[in-house]
Amino acid sequence: MARFVYADNAATTPVSQAVIDAMAPCFATSWGNPSSLHSKGREAKKILDDARERIARVFRCESGELYFTSCGSESDNWAIKGAALRGRKKGRTHIVTTVIEHPAVLNTCKALEKEGFEVSYIGVDENGVVDMEALAAAITEKTAVVAVMYANNEIGTIQPIREICDLAHAKGALMFTDAVQAVGNVDIDLSALPVDMLAMSGHKIHAPKGIGMLFIRKGVLLTNLIDGGGQEKRHRAGTENLPYIVGLAKAIELAAEQLSDMPRVAKMRDRLIDALTAIPYSRLNGHKTQRLPGNVNVGFECIEGESMLLMLDMKGICASTGSACSSASLEPSHVLLAIGVPHEKAHGSIRLSISHETTEEDIDYIIETLPPIVQRLRDMSPLWEEVVKNNK
Ligand SMILES: *Cc1c(COP(=O)(O)O)cnc(C)c1O
Repeated sequence: MARFVYADNAATTPVSQAVIDAMAPCFATSWGNPSSLHSKGREAKKILDDARERIARVFRCESGELYFTSCGSESDNWAIKGAALRGRKKGRTHIVTTVIEHPAVLNTCKALEKEGFEVSYIGVDENGVVDMEALAAAITEKTAVVAVMYANNEIGTIQPIREICDLAHAKGALMFTDAVQAVGNVDIDLSALPVDMLAMSGHKIHAPKGIGMLFIRKGVLLTNLIDGGGQEKRHRAGTENLPYIVGLAKAIELAAEQLSDMPRVAKMRDRLIDALTAIPYSRLNGHKTQRLPGNVNVGFECIEGESMLLMLDMKGICASTGSACSSASLEPSHVLLAIGVPHEKAHGSIRLSISHETTEEDIDYIIETLPPIVQRLRDMSPLWEEVVKNNK
C-alpha cells in the first residue's frame, strides 16, 4: 500500500498519545471512586474537579455548568428529553428542530412525538443553512426547546446559532445545540454564546469513544434521564468515568491550542474542494465558506459512493459516503435530500473529513488518486454514456 490517509475524522478520530498519557495514571494509581470519603476517593475527586475546571476555562463557563455523560448521543437525548419533559409541566409541549440533525437528535424528537409532543422539523436551503423565516415562525409560547446543530456532520455547514438563540429566547423557549462536530473546529465561547445547553463528544476530538459532556447553563432545569446515585450534582447518576474524563479534558485543551491551525486545515480543504469539483459533473455539497474547516463533501454524477469508497480504501484512503451512523443502511442521506440533491444522485456523494494531522502530501495523494477512480467507475456505468451523449 502506497500510503495511508485517514480522511474520516467526522466519524471518529484516533486518540492522541498525549490523551493516552494523561489517562494512564487514572487506571494505574488514581483509580478511586470520587464519591469515597477515604484518601483514594479524595484523590480521585480532586482529579475530577480539576478536569472540570480546565474544561470550563476553555469554554469560558462555570465548572458547575458541565455534566459528564457517556457520549454525544446521551447528551443530545438528555438536553432534548430533559427540556421537553420539564417544559410540559408549564404547558410547553412543542419542539423545534431541523431536518438535517444527527440521528441522536432526530430519533429523540421522534420518540417524543410518540409521547405526545409536537415537533416542527425546519428545512434548510441548498447550502444546508436553516430557513430562518420558517424557524422564527415555528417557535411559539408552546415551544419547550429549539434544537439546532452547530455544524452538520455530513456537509459541514455551520448554522447561525446566535441568531437562533435570540429567536428561541424571544418566546421563552430553551436553546440547545449539538456541537459535537463544532468543538475543536471553531472557538466556542459560552460567556458570549447564549445557548442554554450544548452537547459534545470525546471521540470526535481525539479522546476515547464513550465519553461526552453536556453544558447546562446555570438556572436551566432539565429532567434527569439517568436516575441513581448523587453524581453530577444529582443530575446524572453513575460512578464517574475518571480516566475518560481526564482524557476528555486533555483533548479539549489540545483542541483549543489547535484552533489556530484551523486556517491551514481550511486551506487544505479548499484545495481538495477545488480539485474535486474540477471533475466534470460534480458538485460541492454544503456551504462554500460557512463550513467546518475539515469537511469536504462532493457529489459525482453516475457514481455509486460505496463503490468509490471501496476503491479508495484499496488505495489506503479512508473516507465515508455520509454519516457513519447511516452508511450501513442503503437509504440515501437525509441531509443530502434536504439540500435538494435528487434521490438518484444522493448515492454518488463522498465525504472526506480532514484534521490538523492531515498533511499537504495527504491532500496531493487524494487529488492524484480520486479522479481516476471516478473516471473508472463512470467508464463502467451505462448512465454515464447517456450523460455524455446528451451533452454533446
Ligand atoms: C458523532 C455525533 C454524535 C454522536 O456522538 P457519540 O459520542 O458517537 O454518541 C452526535 N451528533 C453529531 C453531530 C455527531 O457528529
